[in-house]
Amino acid sequence: MCAYCLLQEGAPITGGYQSFQIDHFRPVAKFPRLIRDYWNLYYCCHWCNNAKSDTWPNNDQAKRGYRFVDPCVDDFYGKHARLDVSGRLEALTTAGDFTIREILLNRKIFRDLRSRRAAAQMTIERIKLRLRQLAAEKEPRAELIAALEDQLNTLSSSINPKVPYEPDDLLV
Ligand SMILES: [Zn+2]
Repeated sequence: MCAYCLLQEGAPITGGYQSFQIDHFRPVAKFPRLIRDYWNLYYCCHWCNNAKSDTWPNNDQAKRGYRFVDPCVDDFYGKHARLDVSGRLEALTTAGDFTIREILLNRKIFRDLRSRRAAAQMTIERIKLRLRQLAAEKEPRAELIAALEDQLNTLSSSINPKVPYEPDDLLV
C-alpha cells in the first residue's frame, strides 16, 4: 500500500507492484546522508513518488507550519485531512494542506476511486435500511431478506474502513 495515497498494489489501475517505488521521505537532494537510512524509505506508488520528488518545505514555509505529514509517525487521514462526499480530500491542518497539494492527492484518478468507494458505502447503508424495513413487515419475505443479506455481506467484507479505496473489482 502506498504510504501517502494508500492505494493498494492489487488495484487494477496501478498495474501491480511494478508501479510501486521507494520514496526517500526526506529527499536525498536535501538530506544526502539519509540515502540508505531504512527509516527514511517509504513504499509508495509512482504517482505519489513522482509528485513528491525532491520537494521539501523551505525554512520560511516550515516556520509557518508547512511540512509533509509523515505517515509513519502521524495520522494523516485521521488528523490532517478528511474526505468529502465527492472523493476530494480536504485539509484540516497546514501540514495536511501542504501534503495534499505537493503530492497531488486530489488528482482525478484518486478522487474517482474514492467516490466509487463512497458509492459502495452508500449502497451498504441503503441495504441496511431496506433490511430494517423488511424486518418490520408482518409477513417477512425470507428469500428477499436472504438475498439482501448476502449482498450486504459481500459488499461489507470488500471494504476496509481504514483505507480510502479498494481494488476496483471489489466495488459495486
Ligand atoms: Zn500513492
